[in-house]
Amino acid sequence: MKLLLDTKPIKEWGIQFENRPVVIAGPCSAETEKQVLDTAFQLKEKGITIFRAGIWKPRTRPGYFEGVGSKGLAWLKKVKEETGLLVATEVASEKHVYEALKYGIDILWVGARSTANPFVVQDIADALKGIDIPILVKNPINPDLELWKGAIERIHAAGISRIGAIHRGFSSYGKTVYRNLPTWQLPIDLKTDFPNIPMINDPSHIAGKRELLFEIIQKAMDLNFDGLIIESHCDPSCALSDAAQQVTPNDLDKMLKSIIIRNPNGQSKESYQELKEYRAQIDSFDKMLLNLLEERMEIVKKIGRFKKNNNLTILQSTRWEQIIEKNLEEGSSRGFSELFINRLFKAIHQESIEYQTKIMNE
Ligand code: PEP
Ligand code: MN
Repeated sequence: MKLLLDTKPIKEWGIQFENRPVVIAGPCSAETEKQVLDTAFQLKEKGITIFRAGIWKPRTRPGYFEGVGSKGLAWLKKVKEETGLLVATEVASEKHVYEALKYGIDILWVGARSTANPFVVQDIADALKGIDIPILVKNPINPDLELWKGAIERIHAAGISRIGAIHRGFSSYGKTVYRNLPTWQLPIDLKTDFPNIPMINDPSHIAGKRELLFEIIQKAMDLNFDGLIIESHCDPSCALSDAAQQVTPNDLDKMLKSIIIRNPNGQSKESYQELKEYRAQIDSFDKMLLNLLEERMEIVKKIGRFKKNNNLTILQSTRWEQIIEKNLEEGSSRGFSELFINRLFKAIHQESIEYQTKIMNE
């Protein structure tokens, strides 16, 4: 459902940036006054205009650096006064909001663990009532679009007009190449439902390691994201949190200069006739796919009736294992990833089970 939240597009936020993307950069955590100021000055020199630093750090497990607390706000205030950069930090409670406002923090963000908790988000929203400050809402740690939307709606209902979303990836069980899975479809879906919301990518928390940052940044740009929030530290290897994913201001600058910004409005130009033709072909393949799936489903229904008449369960595990195994093999010989084939056939199988359940209950 498309909801026209009464929020301002990023160009009307009154923050300075040249074209796409808006870049927010700074360390994961404020550690010392020197580290904060050194990083800020180096970033300023590279043309960054918005500085981030975590003051209260939500660590998944105890025993790690949990942030310097309110005293770090004074360092951010100093950054603002001495460099002119706008400063941003994470808030996770009413107290954090009041403290941050007291020190003149320009932009606040709601962290992934907070977005997952409507009580926390509501407390933050209540503390923000009547205050005109930009708020960025990170996606919840779990891939739940409704929680993300709900948090945005709560902040919006507090009267905030400058709301942005941060895509920082989603946790998963087991090891993957990413620290948090990007699952790009979720930010795309959020943008479909809330078309006005600026979408900011956080490649640092998706990647978990600097080597992966650039490919995520480029992908975010190719998906037409409005901005980036990237962790940058004057001495990354000595960082007290998230050392492996932080980059020096110099390396950040190199990466930003390598981004290719492509045109999001291709369709309107005449020279894009070729693209139009390809798209027509894609549309016709999509139709064929649906026709094939419809035919497949007719057989599924016949099997459903057979199972009902012969008192067989809908799920026949060995048969399902055979389907997935055979198609993984066929798929891989055609160059499809295992993840894609798994998702595709699980979706088809799920729908088939729904159809057969209906038949069983007839
Ligand atoms: C952060 O931005 O440093 C942070 C803690 O992020 P997240 O809430 O995405 O884990
Ligand atoms: Mn971090």
